[in-house]
Amino acid sequence: MESTTKRITDYFGENVFNDEVMQEYMSLDTYKELREVIDSGKSLGLDLANRVAEAMKEWAMNNGATHYTHWFQPLTGATAEKHDSFISIDKHGKTILEFTGKNLSKGEADASSFPSGGIRAVFEARGYTVWDCSSPAFIKKIANDRAILYIPTAFCSYNGEALDKKTPLLRSMEALNREGVRLMHLLGYNDVNKVTANVGGEQEYFLIDKKHYDLRPDLKFTGRTLFGSNAPKGQEQNDQYYASIKTRVANFMAELNDELWKLGITAKTQHNEAAPCQHELAPIFCTSNIATDQNQIIMDTMKKVAEKFGLVCLLHEKPFANVNGSGKHNNWSVLTDTGLNLLKPGKNPSSNTLFLLAITAVIAGVDEYADLIRTSASNPGNEHRLGGHEAPPSIISVYIGDDLQNVIDNFVAGNSSDVAQKQFIDTGVNYLAELSKDTSDRNRTSPFAFTGNKFEFRMVGSSATLSNPNTTINTIVAEMFARIANELESVNESERQNKVVEIIKRLYEEHKRVIFNGNNYSKEWLREAKKRGLNNITNCIDAYESLTTPKSVELFGKHKVMSEVELQSRREIYLDVYNKVINIEARTMLMMVKHDMIPAIIEYKNKLAQTINALNTVSGDKKLSSTEGKLLSTFVPLLDNIYSCMMELERIHSQAMRANTSKKKAILLRDQVVPLMEKVRVNVDIAEKLLPKDLAPYPNYADILFYE
Ligand code: ADP
Ligand code: MG
Repeated sequence: MESTTKRITDYFGENVFNDEVMQEYMSLDTYKELREVIDSGKSLGLDLANRVAEAMKEWAMNNGATHYTHWFQPLTGATAEKHDSFISIDKHGKTILEFTGKNLSKGEADASSFPSGGIRAVFEARGYTVWDCSSPAFIKKIANDRAILYIPTAFCSYNGEALDKKTPLLRSMEALNREGVRLMHLLGYNDVNKVTANVGGEQEYFLIDKKHYDLRPDLKFTGRTLFGSNAPKGQEQNDQYYASIKTRVANFMAELNDELWKLGITAKTQHNEAAPCQHELAPIFCTSNIATDQNQIIMDTMKKVAEKFGLVCLLHEKPFANVNGSGKHNNWSVLTDTGLNLLKPGKNPSSNTLFLLAITAVIAGVDEYADLIRTSASNPGNEHRLGGHEAPPSIISVYIGDDLQNVIDNFVAGNSSDVAQKQFIDTGVNYLAELSKDTSDRNRTSPFAFTGNKFEFRMVGSSATLSNPNTTINTIVAEMFARIANELESVNESERQNKVVEIIKRLYEEHKRVIFNGNNYSKEWLREAKKRGLNNITNCIDAYESLTTPKSVELFGKHKVMSEVELQSRREIYLDVYNKVINIEARTMLMMVKHDMIPAIIEYKNKLAQTINALNTVSGDKKLSSTEGKLLSTFVPLLDNIYSCMMELERIHSQAMRANTSKKKAILLRDQVVPLMEKVRVNVDIAEKLLPKDLAPYPNYADILFYE
């Protein structure tokens, strides 16, 4: 029977300029030429650009597009877009619709309002957006069946310095490809022409009711609650993780999926996460720059779709205290164009030297450049998460699981082992299908875990772009591949196999200190890590310093991913972002305390005083008003405390903001302002617990986290 309901495949990718559409709108020759540019990274000529632009315009306009935009990722970490309509006036004064190869491939943006960290002075405002043809263009539908054509671009200065997050990512992919192919050829895999990093980003998020959001200035201005005492129930019953999804959220997810599928994004997994109102979505992995672009689209679409259901999507790393925060697990693997995943152990990992070499290369790189890995997941929001109970701690370590560690230990000791041969799990029930064991178990506490055929970097924050972590991982692994390739080149072909074995052993011995298969949340790990000499960078301000160390400048410079100037500019911008975030948080906090919390307490005190007076007048007996009296007297020191902490915060905050360098300012904010904000919060949260519901100025955690 014919079904009238649409299947996913009926509309998957309908809003993307994908291969199918290209073939429909371009001649076969044009399509082939463009495909070659995309696949081999050849440069794009103007003639081809003109033909592609024409096809893109026709397709976009057939789908309601009136404007196009060069879409880019400035260093703020967000995305940027400026729309231009296809309307133009020709030399006869006639209105025409135009979109040329030049419009497609290059744009000029007044870059002066985007952070450049000193790369450009404000008067040199020119910035260029350049089409990244490896990431597909797409349209976003707006009202009246209209649409905007989005062209993914890189953003750079007049001198070619990267002013965005995408350019270094693309450069790091080139580095990984260059060194990866070189290594594969030395290992005898001469058919390999391309090596790419694949990424699957799991996106965690909160959904709350818009009516609560609208009443919380902290959520509006900072993305997180600056106040809020615990609700009677949190996540202690583990009854939210994987739980049945409430109807309103299920409807949201259905529409979100549809929108993402139309954009060619393979939304795959969805479930409730550990905290109340917390959820997760994961698409199927793809090439790292496309995965990064798609993740930006996912975050944006989540926010837009939420609006339709009277919901607000919170992407902050820690919107609520005392329940889990949100991360973005970055699943990463290396794949060749011949279909080999270098991180796949296969049936017999103990004799799979390619796998052993690749995994030890990653382990060694993560150990040697642990500070850069840590930094790549640093942002102000993640400060509340890293080291918090549910999130990976700040110490970088790698989990590979006991079985795999056994395999490598035996390999290094020269013993043959079959420890990791397929094992089966006995469920004790005959009709349940036979379950084979994975090469590694799950460990939720490790920041960098090997999970079967990929590494999962769990530190990344939910609001962050995937470009920083992947730029870093790609570059570090490119460096390890380069070093290995150098060594292999130095010996005769006949000696290479022995050399590979020697390298695996050496890298493993030198770097196994970074491997930890136990509980990363435990106190023992802190002590153990210290003993092993592993660095514990506890905050982002310290982390940012690692960007400009000689070691970092050497690494990123050698692989042409970022120059010293580009690294310095990033350090400067990240410090500046931190300062702005804390400044806004402090100001929001001061505003909420002054405008709302203190007046609410005074009102309640007044009410109590009036009641006490009235009761005493009626009976002349103080006993009748003794509880009211006690309540009133609790509020006296509490209000004094709140007031004095607030005044202290105001004073220290304005002092900090006068610091003359961003580093000094950041240190003052981190060491003085943030602890004071914590003090204000503690007192305000006590007051919130005591205030009657109708006098409380904001919806509380119980309201927000347990909406219907
Ligand atoms: P879990 O929550 O159990 O870690 P999910 O299914 O939520 O797993 O997410 C796993 C993510 O890893 C998905 O985005 C998936 O596509 C991605 N992934 C799977 N295999 C690879 C691989 N070889 N390389 C990169 N990412 C991968
Ligand atoms: Mg998951």
